[in-house]
Amino acid sequence: MACRREAEEHSGKMDVDCSTSEVPAASSKDPQSLEEENRKLKDARLCKICMDEEISIVFLPCAHLASCGQCASGVSHCPLCRSVINGRVRIFLS
Ligand SMILES: [Zn+2]
Ligand SMILES: [Zn+2]
Repeated sequence: MACRREAEEHSGKMDVDCSTSEVPAASSKDPQSLEEENRKLKDARLCKICMDEEISIVFLPCAHLASCGQCASGVSHCPLCRSVINGRVRIFLS
């Protein structure tokens, strides 16, 4: 940076060599899309009923992951496939 400024201030001077101190400006990862990706991953883990809590219950027998612990006790049919829920298993996402 300092090297480049020096070159601009003394526009007539051409013997400044910046080639060894150049750093690639653009990183390969776009922080915007990375953030978007994280948001999608987080959404996929959210309860399909309240969209607030993380999924922690798998319904049986359809085995859909769709609900947090609180909502699971309040539904009798799977919100994804409408199957009658015969059982609920608590899961732990890492
Ligand atoms: Zn919920
Ligand atoms: Zn289901």
